[in-house]
Amino acid sequence: MPLYLKFYFWLLLISAIVFSLERFFARHPQQEIVRHDFGQDLFWMVFNTQYVSWMLAIMGVYLARWLNTALFHFHFPAPESLGLIAHWSLPLQFVVFLVLKDFLEWNIHRSLHRFPWLWELHKLHHSSQQLDWLATFRAHWGEMIIYKFVIYVPLVILGVDDRVIFAILVFSLFMQELVHANLDWGWGPLRYVLNSPRLHAWHHSVEMHGREGQNFGISLALWDWMFRTAYWPAPQQPPAKLGFLEMEIYPRSVWARLWHPLLSRRPRTEADPSVNSPNESKKKAAPAQSQSS
Ligand SMILES: [Zn+2]
Ligand SMILES: [Zn+2]
Repeated sequence: MPLYLKFYFWLLLISAIVFSLERFFARHPQQEIVRHDFGQDLFWMVFNTQYVSWMLAIMGVYLARWLNTALFHFHFPAPESLGLIAHWSLPLQFVVFLVLKDFLEWNIHRSLHRFPWLWELHKLHHSSQQLDWLATFRAHWGEMIIYKFVIYVPLVILGVDDRVIFAILVFSLFMQELVHANLDWGWGPLRYVLNSPRLHAWHHSVEMHGREGQNFGISLALWDWMFRTAYWPAPQQPPAKLGFLEMEIYPRSVWARLWHPLLSRRPRTEADPSVNSPNESKKKAAPAQSQSS
């Protein structure tokens, strides 16, 4: 089966599983399946550049192998880093690279919240006002290129097996759909290791509990606990409002949302309320939030 078909097979299977879990264990049972922006999110799902960047990464594996063979053939010494860990067992490669990839992604995700110009790209993902399996896919193409390509290239250079890359890809997709799902699962004591729907819902909250926000984890929650960016309120309750401040002036159409990061890179002025960094917008939002909750 061609790789892209194999990927779509897993995408449909994972979506069906998470969708079914939501039907049985919904955190908000009244939340409609065909909710606001459902059609647009289907667009983001179908035209999701994650596939492209993943496919490029897997193609990179073949390219690295070809390069290695070509260098050997012409009696050139292959760079030592190339294929350095290619002889490790597949499960070991999976665990080591899942952890490394997740740590890289956690750092990138924090940067997306820290730097105003990156936040303009990431805003699209935070524009969901309801979370479910489909909200996973709402992300700007530019963001996906930063995330996936930058992350998979080092794995390719180090010689990670393409089957391991594919397994990591499927596992990450499952975790991403799960943490965005309309579920209230927190994993008990495993919450310190694995990201959960409960933890990630607070990442999407308008209310901020740190300088740049909270709960930046992708598949693992480890980094948020280690670097004190985790927010885990007790008693457990869902965030009162998802999104960011001044959502009402954020564009609504797919086209406008794609162009928004480019058009919004204007110098910030006191008189320009439309250009708001995550720090400012959410800080302003916090008092309003606490009054309402
Ligand atoms: Zn985020
Ligand atoms: Zn999210």
